[in-house]
Amino acid sequence: MGQVIFIGAGPGAADLITLRGARWLARADVVLFDALTDPALRDLAPAARWVDVGKRGFADATGQATIDAMLVRFARSHAVVVRLKGGDPSVFGRLEEELQALAAAHIECEVVPGVTAALAAAAAQQRPLTRRGHGRSVSLSTAMTREGHLQAGRHADTEVFYMAGRQLARLSRQLLAAGWPSDSPVCVVSRAGWPDQIGSDHQVASLPQATLLHAGRPTVVTVGAGAVGTGGAAPATVCLPTVTALQDHPTAALRSRP
Ligand code: SAH
Repeated sequence: MGQVIFIGAGPGAADLITLRGARWLARADVVLFDALTDPALRDLAPAARWVDVGKRGFADATGQATIDAMLVRFARSHAVVVRLKGGDPSVFGRLEEELQALAAAHIECEVVPGVTAALAAAAAQQRPLTRRGHGRSVSLSTAMTREGHLQAGRHADTEVFYMAGRQLARLSRQLLAAGWPSDSPVCVVSRAGWPDQIGSDHQVASLPQATLLHAGRPTVVTVGAGAVGTGGAAPATVCLPTVTALQDHPTAALRSRP
């Protein structure tokens, strides 16, 4: 009977994985990986069998059950099975179900943390999530409920929303309804941690204008204290006064330097 190591791959570029994660990968017999992980990570486990179990958005019940069953099956026939997840396994990573399935099968597990998207976005834009005096709490939320409805509130000085990229207009309306002033700062970052990461600055009321710029890219939305610029010129930050202005920009001009 083998063991299953859950590894957070980080948000993008392969060098954002932890040293511990890389060391476990080097020992892996099988790697079950998600769509968002960097193919360059394969170099860290060239001898392993790589199995794509990637899914975007919500996997249906069958999809998750299949992954759970595969983990158990591989662990029964291989010494080291790695379950590689984007970002951190403990943040919106369906880790609970997989740990439960392995516990039920009496299979030993370890979880290796990774850099979650909220932290990669904060680093990309040089926007600390906590601020002395006025940024004392941070909340990580998925904007989507299990039923696919959008929900947003005001629970912390800095709120970071995952999985909201396709619904920025609704997110804006919900934030206003939750009591955020219309001019509260919002920072939107897509593909944080990748060479082509993009960040843009908005206010709660004008958040819908970020839709076009970040369309089709994994995106996190930071609202409140942690969205305020620190005065430095962070790479790849764009301010969008209007959507028309965006159309005047060639996309290439918005790309960040690696
Ligand atoms: N476990 C992951 C989150 C998985 S949920 C983590 O810890 O980061 C998938 C959501 O994460 C996406 O819809 C998006 O909101 C966010 N996300 C993942 N990678 C991202 C990236 N590189 N840049 C911005 N957001 C990202």
